[in-house]
Amino acid sequence: MTIMTNALTGKVAIVTGGASGIGRATALLFAAQGAAVVVADIDGQGAARVAGEIEAGGGRAVAVATDVAAEADCERAVLTAVETFGGLHVLFNNAGIIRRTTALEISADEWDRVMAVNVRSVFLMCKHAIPAMKDGGSIVNTGSGWGLKGGGNAISYCASKAAVVNMTRALAIDHAKAGIRVNSVNPGDTDTPMLREEARQLSEDWAAFAADAADRPMGRSGTPDEIAQAVLFLASDAASYVTGAALVVDGGGLA
Ligand code: NAD
Repeated sequence: MTIMTNALTGKVAIVTGGASGIGRATALLFAAQGAAVVVADIDGQGAARVAGEIEAGGGRAVAVATDVAAEADCERAVLTAVETFGGLHVLFNNAGIIRRTTALEISADEWDRVMAVNVRSVFLMCKHAIPAMKDGGSIVNTGSGWGLKGGGNAISYCASKAAVVNMTRALAIDHAKAGIRVNSVNPGDTDTPMLREEARQLSEDWAAFAADAADRPMGRSGTPDEIAQAVLFLASDAASYVTGAALVVDGGGLA
């Protein structure tokens, strides 16, 4: 169910982490709303599968194997959008990783990798995408409920997502006059391969984990499509006066 139709007709979008979970659902929704989509993911085969799904449904998409921590890869993803589809209007910086450790367990190298994939990536993608957004644009960055409050056993992740939320505000201020809006979407627990892997690592039964009452007033986790709908709103002209915002989509978890 979607309340918008043709919300992205004529637009070109990049979705990082587009091979799985929230990114995949958003890439499919963007395409269904008329966008041409660059599916960028370190999992090149997975990205190609999602681009294939879009094309099979009559949409336009191209896959690019991209490590968002690497500047050359970010630059190539932007060039692919411009060369394949003639421009760039929407950037969804969504690729991310989590390490379920405290400060005592995580190595300095692992810390750096989480920061590179979750934080430096947003800076690098924006650095190359913003000059390509000649007619203005919308950037949505995936933060997390754990970027707005603390969480246990995820120190690097919590630090990285708080950085994403505040970098979003800084980007919004710097590029507002150029007609570029920048917002974060902050999901609560969402049923994706990432969350299922977390439950496995914590040796928790999925059904019990997904229904944990403390973080989930609604008694369930979210679906990737429920996050994608919020991203679509922020990406579209329906959000024309929304910039620098941190939109929480978590079934009341933060409340
Ligand atoms: P997911 O693991 O299903 O998907 C993440 C995708 O990112 C994968 O396709 C993966 O290959 C890709 N990726 C990982 N490292 C990459 C890199 N270096 N370069 C390019 N792509 C890379 O996870 P998801 O749950 O859909 O997560 C998407 C985003 O949502 C992440 O930023 C995550 O932190 C955030 N988030 C998820 C939840 C949740 O409960 N699932 C909650 C809050 C925030």
